[in-house]
Amino acid sequence: MIEFEPVDLTTEERRLQVEVIEFLEQELPHGTYRPGLGFSAEKDPAFSRKLGERGWLGMALPTEYGGHDRSAVDRFIVAEQLLRWGAPVGHHWVADRQSGPVIAKFGTEEQKRTFLPRICSGELSFCIGMSEPDSGSDLASLSTRAVRDGDGWVVSGTKIWTTMAHEHDYVIALTRTTPIEESGDKRNGLTQFIIDLASPGLTATPIPFIDNSADFCEVVFDDVYVPADRVLGEVGQGWAQNTSELAYERGGPDRWLSSYLLVEELLRRDGASDTDARPSPELLDLLGNAVANYWVLHHLSLSVARDIDRGGAPAIESSLVKEMGTRFEQDVVTAVLAYLDEAPNTLDSSVFGHLLMTAALTQPSFTVRGGTNEVLRSVAAKGLRPSGSSR
Ligand SMILES: Cc1cc2nc3c(=O)[nH]c(=O)nc-3n(C[C@H](O)[C@H](O)[C@H](O)COP(=O)(O)OP(=O)(O)OC[C@H]3O[C@@H](n4cnc5c(N)ncnc54)[C@H](O)[C@@H]3O)c2cc1C
Repeated sequence: MIEFEPVDLTTEERRLQVEVIEFLEQELPHGTYRPGLGFSAEKDPAFSRKLGERGWLGMALPTEYGGHDRSAVDRFIVAEQLLRWGAPVGHHWVADRQSGPVIAKFGTEEQKRTFLPRICSGELSFCIGMSEPDSGSDLASLSTRAVRDGDGWVVSGTKIWTTMAHEHDYVIALTRTTPIEESGDKRNGLTQFIIDLASPGLTATPIPFIDNSADFCEVVFDDVYVPADRVLGEVGQGWAQNTSELAYERGGPDRWLSSYLLVEELLRRDGASDTDARPSPELLDLLGNAVANYWVLHHLSLSVARDIDRGGAPAIESSLVKEMGTRFEQDVVTAVLAYLDEAPNTLDSSVFGHLLMTAALTQPSFTVRGGTNEVLRSVAAKGLRPSGSSR
């Protein structure tokens, strides 16, 4: 059954929300930094370390590994405000959102002690090594191989769209360790590895994106040696582990907040410039729609976090939030462009101009990254089979 229980924040949680806003007002006053769109915002390792010092990374990880034993709701509260601010979260986002929790869940004692404290301090960055040139939605058909070699493994193959692989420290890569002919089912015989992106034989080449950024990469593994102690979890159990990693990737505020900043910046620009100090009816209309949808998604996403805290595994609900959330992200861009009734100006270097140009060019990717909307609808429709064959 699909369930979204209504959620209110407790007094303690509201206090955390205020604390994060005050921190951001002090650290990143408006006008002093270049805000970015959601989790693909700027990378600033120093800012990530500050969050680590505040205890706002690895919040739900165990204290014995540098975490804070806090709730998924607490993490939600911090994440939502950072995204609303367009804060430079690019360095730590994937490590905090999914690599840390996955290592905490499936990693060995040695892996937890090696990686988790440095994820919680904001030092280490991770990327996601799932997609391949011929395996995106149908992820289980991937062909990157890992073959035993003495004490370790040798990995060969190509991953693609691996965000920040040219700058980050590690990739958690899903590989095939038993050929499909032997494993019987394409979902069997897959294994996850934690791979150092500086390994000999590994090349990460950035792919230019339409907005002139080059954040995601083609990653070629040319017989990359990976020590046996970098197998994550059980050999052959990579599919089930990867499915649980996707649940961390999908239900959070980063899947509906990428473009909302545009509305706030538009309001700063046009709301204040009207001569009678009242926003125009068109702007009020846009704002009303955006805020109402924001509020719905905020509550649905919060409900997912609360369910996780109660021990639930809301994979279907997360898929629905991502499906609705990413459509909202695109609708916001469409509404702002319609309100302006003019194409974005490449020469406009103002905060709003830069955000608008980036949003207009990259918005098609919102419903693709992390699993396409068609596939998410399929996951939701199947309902009782969230660990189906598609990502
Ligand atoms: C900005 C961005 C960042 C990304 N970062 C990463 C990353 O860091 N790491 C990583 O591993 N991957 C990353 N990806 C890849 C992303 O996860 C894949 O693009 C996505 O899973 C879709 O795979 P594909 O591109 O191969 O498309 P395909 O799977 O080829 O799909 C093409 C079209 O067919 C549709 N389709 C496919 N199968 C079905 C089906 N069964 N039913 C209905 N429709 C279907 C899809 O919805 C889509 O419209 C990123 C992608 C983007 C855009």
